[in-house]
Amino acid sequence: MGPGDESGPYPILRAPVRPLAPEVRTGIAAASGIAVGQAFVIDRRRQPTPRRHLLPEEITAELVRLDEAVSLADMQLERLKRKLKESDESDSSVILEAHQLILRDEHLLGPTRRRIRDEKLNVEWALRKTVAEIQQRFDAIDLPYFRERKSDVAFVGEQVLRNLLDATGGVTWQPPLGAVVVAHDLSPADTVHLHRHQIAALVTDAGGRTSHTSILAQAFGIPAVVGLEDITEAVGTGDLLIVDGNRGEVILCPSQSMTDDYKQQARSEHAKIVQLLAERDSPAETTDGVRIRLVANIELPDEVPIALEYGAEGIGLYRTEFLFLDREDFPREEEHFMHARGVLRRVAPYEATFRTFDLGVDKVAPFLSRITGAHPSSSEAEPNPALGLRSLRLCLKEPAFFKAQLRGLLRASVHGTMRIMFPMVSGVEELARAKEILDECRRELQKEGLAFADHIPIGIMIEMPSAVMVSDHLAKEVDFMSIGTNDLIQYSLALDRLNEHVGYLYQPLHPAVLRMVKYTVDAAHAEGRRVGMCGELAGEPLLTVILLGLGLDDLSMNAASLPLVRRLVRQLSAKEARALADEVLKLPSASQIEAVVRERLQRLLGDDPAWSTLTSTVRRSGKHAH
Ligand code: PEP
Ligand code: MG
Repeated sequence: MGPGDESGPYPILRAPVRPLAPEVRTGIAAASGIAVGQAFVIDRRRQPTPRRHLLPEEITAELVRLDEAVSLADMQLERLKRKLKESDESDSSVILEAHQLILRDEHLLGPTRRRIRDEKLNVEWALRKTVAEIQQRFDAIDLPYFRERKSDVAFVGEQVLRNLLDATGGVTWQPPLGAVVVAHDLSPADTVHLHRHQIAALVTDAGGRTSHTSILAQAFGIPAVVGLEDITEAVGTGDLLIVDGNRGEVILCPSQSMTDDYKQQARSEHAKIVQLLAERDSPAETTDGVRIRLVANIELPDEVPIALEYGAEGIGLYRTEFLFLDREDFPREEEHFMHARGVLRRVAPYEATFRTFDLGVDKVAPFLSRITGAHPSSSEAEPNPALGLRSLRLCLKEPAFFKAQLRGLLRASVHGTMRIMFPMVSGVEELARAKEILDECRRELQKEGLAFADHIPIGIMIEMPSAVMVSDHLAKEVDFMSIGTNDLIQYSLALDRLNEHVGYLYQPLHPAVLRMVKYTVDAAHAEGRRVGMCGELAGEPLLTVILLGLGLDDLSMNAASLPLVRRLVRQLSAKEARALADEVLKLPSASQIEAVVRERLQRLLGDDPAWSTLTSTVRRSGKHAH
């Protein structure tokens, strides 16, 4: 959640309320696994200030950052004021008006700008110094009223600082090894940072099952429970917690016997995975000879070796944008080329599918403001970000930015086996425009004498109901398709994937979802195209039988899910899976479908250890409504 979502004007520090007895909190199971560890509570509201001296050429950009952060703070205050007025608290809104005046006051902005320009201090440092100076002046006035105003200035300064830090990632936390990180919300960039600190688990108040933070946690093998609503109010740093990422539960104040029990569960889960990994090199083939390709989703090039270790037969989805989320400037062609070449070489002899930039919503980078003209993480910039200027639309709006990526990818294509995939395609015209730009890049490179592969399969993600409905037309224009269920579910069930309050509506087995998958698969096959799935659903072991039955050719998932899915494919018959798919497609609700699938799997796999692994590792798909 961005700074625009802060709910209160004052940094409120609440004392942790510890339950005396063990207490189980239920949220959304976001990343599987069990962890026991001490909490490390992250309070986004108190971040340390980065300090550095600027190069002369950085000064202008730093002044722009100040203006953007101030405008955003102004909008945040305005919105809060509105909320207070709506709730009949108009008296309190006077305080906010005062804050807006302070925010625009030259006594705050003038000296801050001067420090940036003359002393070459970065904006956060310059602002901190100015705030401290103003506070000292208030101290010197011997009137209680003015001394009290000190805290108003401090608040305004903090608000601007928070906006600045959020815009640049601003991640400086240092959790100890093996900590359970507890936060209100975490951005994908935060999660990458925390992963480097080898945390044991993460739990958050906000978030959804397919938010990119959850996807990253799963990719990094960090057990995670999200959507806990108020866990940050109940836990203090140092508290012992049990995190069960399979069931979506967090246990506060666990007893010794509970701790021992969960540690034992974690050990046996690990043993099961080791056992499954022994089959890593066996083909993912059903008992009646249907071969499925199991590939991996990655967010960062470093994940390639892990994916291969888990038995991936290539990369089915490389989310290329993650590498650049902390960037102020546009990623350059040369960087795209180097990274893509690196990935292709590491994946060889397998194929890697590069999805072009899918930026926006929770994947905001500071450089986006150059395209949208607004603060990238502000909700004012995109009042409805999932339906706004994101993904392919954004790239088509800024061809130069898009071409840098396409040219880099094309040039790298001679170093391995590449596929290029466009996300968020709504229909044939958008696809035609993307392909036109790609052809333009080919022509330019040819003229410049730069090499690229003769045949690069071009594909699209099917993530919108509109794309499903015209998948027959789209199939004629591409070499392959991949169904992105994270967005497809979001758009077809009208369900914001980041919003914890509607997490309970996330129903991968909703008949509408299954019918859309079937429709797409049939359309692709009618044109002789391969069709895969790369949303989180592809890695849900409970669904493997249905996905097989629906006829998907490739399943692309986070690496950790590969061993169990491989095992399941090898235990099932495609004929039985097809019969089951036909049967459930006629059912009216997700719960009826789930009951039939569970009953049938138990019948088919009952004696197989895969069944017990499946029942212990299947993540709850969502929290139920209260
Ligand atoms: C999807 O939408 O299913 C998908 C794979 O893309 P992302 O999760 O990156 O939006
Ligand atoms: Mg998507």
